[in-house]
Amino acid sequence: MVVTMKQGTPQSEIDKLSAALVARGVEVSPIVGTDVVILGLVGDTSKIDDTWLEANRNVARVQHISEPFKKANKKFHPEPTILDINGARIGGERLAVIAGPCSVESEEQLCGIAQEVKALGANFLRGGAFKPRTSPYAFQGLKYDGLELLMEARAQTGLPIVTEIMAPHDIEIFEQDVDIIQVGARNMQNFDLLRELGRTKKPILLKRGLSATIEEWLMSAEYIMAGGNENVVLCERGIRTFENFTRNTLDLSAIPAVKSMSHLPVVVDPSHATGKWWMVESLARAAVAVGADGLIIEVHNDPANALCDGQQSIKPKVFGELLDQLRPIAAAVGRKL
Ligand code: PEP
Ligand code: MN
Repeated sequence: MVVTMKQGTPQSEIDKLSAALVARGVEVSPIVGTDVVILGLVGDTSKIDDTWLEANRNVARVQHISEPFKKANKKFHPEPTILDINGARIGGERLAVIAGPCSVESEEQLCGIAQEVKALGANFLRGGAFKPRTSPYAFQGLKYDGLELLMEARAQTGLPIVTEIMAPHDIEIFEQDVDIIQVGARNMQNFDLLRELGRTKKPILLKRGLSATIEEWLMSAEYIMAGGNENVVLCERGIRTFENFTRNTLDLSAIPAVKSMSHLPVVVDPSHATGKWWMVESLARAAVAVGADGLIIEVHNDPANALCDGQQSIKPKVFGELLDQLRPIAAAVGRKL
C-alpha cells in the first residue's frame, strides 16, 4: 500500500500518521521528495482501511499494491482449487455440469428431469427449494419439502445436489441435506450469512451479485474462507448494465480476470445471464471457450408451464445437443466434458 501525503504536510503530522500505522502492525518506509512525501506500507495491510486513511486531511492519495483478498488470492495459493463432492469434481480438467430446474415443483418433475440430465451427462443436479423472487406474490419455492424432493432425486440418480440458501437459520439443515450450498446473487453481500457459512465445511457456490465488481465478489468469497471454509466455487451469472435486451449482461471477461487473481474454480450460468432459452447454448459455448470450470444450466421438461424461469430454461433434448457441441470446444481449451 502506498500513501501519498499532501504537499506541505508538516513533519509532525507525518510522524503522527506513521506511528498510527506502525501501531496497526505495518512497517512504514517514507520516501521524501522535494515536494511530497510518500509512505510505503509493508506487511499485512489487509486490516488497514482505505477510508480511515482518506479521512486524514493530510493524505492526498491511497493506492493498493496487492489485492485485499488473501485466502482467495492465487499469490498465496498458486495451485487451482479442485473440489471433490462425492467423487464429482469442480475445478479439474473435467468440466462440471450442473443442470436442473430453476425451482423444485414436484417429485415427478424433479426426478424426471434429474434422470434425463444425468443420462445426458450432467454431474450435479440443481433445483431451488427456497426462491428469492422479486415479487412477494410469486411462487416462493417448496422450501423444506423441496429439500426432501432433492434428496429423493439424489437417491435415484446419485447426482450431488445444489440448492440455494436464503437465511442463516437454515444452515444446519442444509449442511445435513445438501451437497453444495448456493448463495444467490441477491445474497452475495449478506455478510452475516457468508460468515455463518464460513463455519461449515460444505462447498459453497457463490453467485456474483447483480451489480458487484469482481473485487467485491472475491471479498465475499474471502468472508466465507476467512471463517475456515475454503470450499468456494464462484459463479458468474451476468451483471446489471444499461442493456436490457437480455436479463443481465454475461461478463465473460470476468472468467479470465478471476483466474488471473484467484485459485477458486469459476462456473458460468448462461440461463440467468441471458434470461432467454435460445441464447443459453451460444453463451455456454463461449463460457467454455474462455476457460470456465463448468456450467450451471436451467433445464425443464415443460418450460411453458414452469413455476419459475421457464423463459430461460432449455428442454432436456436441447441440453443433450448442447453437451455434444461443447465437447470439441472443451478439447480445444484442454478440458474434458
Ligand atoms: C437461481 O439460480 O435460480 C437464481 C435465483 O440465481 P441468481 O441468484 O443468480 O439470480
Ligand atoms: Mn432461476
